[in-house]
Amino acid sequence: MEHPGSEVFFPPVPNGLDYLLSVVEHLEAGTERVSARDLKYAVLHLAAGTEVLLKARLQLEHWCLVFSDPTKAKRAELENGSLLSCGPDDTVQRLRDIARVQITDKDRKALTRLAKDRNALQHYGLFGQSANARAVESRAAEVLDFLIRFVDEDLLPALPPAEAEAAQTDLERIRGGLTEIEGFVKQRMQRLRVELEALRDRTLQCPDCRQWALVVEPTQAQGVARTSRCRFCGMSHDAEEIALLYGVEILGRDPGMLDMITGLMATDLCSYCELESLVEGVRFAADPVTAMAFCFQCTRLQPGLIGCPGCGHSFRPVGGATSCETCTAASSPHRAP
Ligand SMILES: [Zn+2]
Ligand SMILES: [Zn+2]
Ligand SMILES: [Zn+2]
Repeated sequence: MEHPGSEVFFPPVPNGLDYLLSVVEHLEAGTERVSARDLKYAVLHLAAGTEVLLKARLQLEHWCLVFSDPTKAKRAELENGSLLSCGPDDTVQRLRDIARVQITDKDRKALTRLAKDRNALQHYGLFGQSANARAVESRAAEVLDFLIRFVDEDLLPALPPAEAEAAQTDLERIRGGLTEIEGFVKQRMQRLRVELEALRDRTLQCPDCRQWALVVEPTQAQGVARTSRCRFCGMSHDAEEIALLYGVEILGRDPGMLDMITGLMATDLCSYCELESLVEGVRFAADPVTAMAFCFQCTRLQPGLIGCPGCGHSFRPVGGATSCETCTAASSPHRAP
């Protein structure tokens, strides 16, 4: 009765696409602003669709890969749906390492973020303010964009022609929906254009909605306390928190840990305001190709880290220093003032 490739093991692609159709329907529902309820189901269905589609690809590689622990995989549990299946991070990891699916770090982060949004929704209910909602909507569009490519390139070619063709129809509809959703985002950005144009040299990418709309303000300006705010989604926290969010969400660094590739922390101590608000690698809308070290607290730009010619450790050449503090102190203890 049963043999490999029999219906039971057929990847549930149509089911996954059906979830995505629901996502675009919910997000298209409000041109000006998506209702909290539409957004809730958009996120829940996007998360469900993502899981189904990513796991469909894993299943094509080998059915046991969708189990939390593949060494304990049982076919009966797969068939009756009682399996303990792998979580979102493991799914992505296995797709990359075992199935050799191209998933960029940016896509991986977007997927992780989606899983977080989904959990927050399931446990705490609706998103509070519209500010938050805009960021979620903008991020949902990113995930949809990834999934369309993924289905097209990694999933459909592996399906039998009839199934692939049926899926193409759904995919077209989803693609059209995404274009429309991206259109809303563009329209809103368009409206902000004049306002942001004048602020380009202190506008950077928002760690919440990922639009270039976060306008940074010095925390204290003429004795007035100010906070930076994203003009697109309304995201606003204190400077230290925004610095950390930027380092983690935009630059992909680990909070509180040295990045293995770049050797950088998510945030550093600012030598002026002595808060963990300095971030290496910040880019501004006025010149997005140049990365700077920027303090989110005092908004000072600072020189980037360089290697000390004396000891090889990296240091920040503040005030024209040519070697690190330790080496400078050791080499010129009696320098004339
Ligand atoms: Zn934002
Ligand atoms: Zn500072
Ligand atoms: Zn040194």
